[in-house]
Amino acid sequence: MKFSNLPLSKEMLHNLNEIGYKEMTPIQAQSLPHILEGKDVIAQAKTGSGKTAAFGIGLLTKLQVKKFRVQSLILCPTRELADQVSKELRMLARTTHNIKILTLCGGTAFGPQLGSLRHGAHIIVGTPGRILKHLKKETLSLENLDMLVLDEADRMLDMGFSEEINEVLGFAPKTRQTLLFSATYTDEIMDISSSIQKDAVNIKTTSNEIANKISEYFYEVEYGQKLKTLVNIFSNFKPENVIVFCNTKVEANEIANTLQDKKIDALAIHGDLEQYERNDVLVQFANKSCRVLVATDVAARGLDIKELSMVVNYDIPHGDETYTHRIGRTGRAGAEGLAFTLYEANEIQNADEYKNDTRLFEDANELKEIIGFEMRPVNVTLVIEGGKKDKVRAGDILGALTGDAGLAGSSIGKIDIYDRQSYVAIENSKIDEAHKQLKNGKIKGKKFSVWIL
Ligand code: ADP
Ligand code: MG
Repeated sequence: MKFSNLPLSKEMLHNLNEIGYKEMTPIQAQSLPHILEGKDVIAQAKTGSGKTAAFGIGLLTKLQVKKFRVQSLILCPTRELADQVSKELRMLARTTHNIKILTLCGGTAFGPQLGSLRHGAHIIVGTPGRILKHLKKETLSLENLDMLVLDEADRMLDMGFSEEINEVLGFAPKTRQTLLFSATYTDEIMDISSSIQKDAVNIKTTSNEIANKISEYFYEVEYGQKLKTLVNIFSNFKPENVIVFCNTKVEANEIANTLQDKKIDALAIHGDLEQYERNDVLVQFANKSCRVLVATDVAARGLDIKELSMVVNYDIPHGDETYTHRIGRTGRAGAEGLAFTLYEANEIQNADEYKNDTRLFEDANELKEIIGFEMRPVNVTLVIEGGKKDKVRAGDILGALTGDAGLAGSSIGKIDIYDRQSYVAIENSKIDEAHKQLKNGKIKGKKFSVWIL
């Protein structure tokens, strides 16, 4: 569909043509008519699908240039993303004179931002922590705001920004248009949408609409060959992250240890762990500091891991319900999931009972053995001995890591903040740099002990 089908100004259409945007991308075609009508929209679309222009064209069309007040606010998870959004908005706005767009992010000096704010702006793009700081100091007012955008909302929640977002919203007028963009839909995202949006139009682009697609494999394994088969499954199918379910604590520890010996990054979780140990393991698995989680059923209950690429039943589960529940964790958000079930001949009375149209029964001996296969974690977790009770927030940690020639926001993963501790996932190759930066620096003007998990 062409942009000219939309009620856009001549200048905007001309500019889009100049930029080389000839046709709308699917997310633009589906969301822009609603956005231009003033409706709240929640939209899911992959990275690179053109979300920035979708909300950008919407907010620029709505903007009253003559009214020199902050009318639009865009919240982004990192400084890099905020810079990208500002750049795209400037390009879209270049034919309208005198539109002022200001970027406000943590990890950069506060002083110069005050100066820029004093000169005024129409549009603010920034990270929740820094925006909140300006709101509290009353150096920024949202009194005239009529468009609020949460860009990459899932990433913001992952980074621990939900509290800051809620506080920022407290400063915004109730009557406004709110747009929410997210690559994935989770319960948390739907909760946020229902608490901050009104009658939101729900948009998913078709490429993401493919329902949970799970490929189910069953392998009959010779006696004592399960571990070997497990490693072969990993090396042949190369999953990002896996949960291996087994029946006992002893087995869970044994499998995890053997995998570690084989340079496959694994941790065990079972009922014998202390609460804090359990937490350390779950945090590392969820933030990509651990690739394989070996779990007993009890321990895995209530575990909500998004985007799991593989589930392995190391033992055949008792009952169909357990089976369905276990494998349902994989293949989320349109990605294809893989489910494997291993059994020895003596563990199963009649394999036919498990057969149906969708399940593939294979011979474990046909899996190739791949020499030198390793599974290394993407991230490493830093623990900070400070949390909510110490008033430590995601924005403070992000600022301490990225400020003053620090790390790029893209090297920082999930941030989890608990009462007395915080966990930050750091890209593997950047861990020493990050550790040093936090150890020598301060968070909120205070020193905290920091260690690598
Ligand atoms: P997202 O935020 O969904 O990840 P972006 O908004 O960053 O994606 O857009 C990705 C790229 O696509 C950018 O380079 C942008 O300039 C380009 N783009 C956006 N809309 C169009 C369009 N209608 N036609 C051609 N290119 C587009
Ligand atoms: Mg984007």
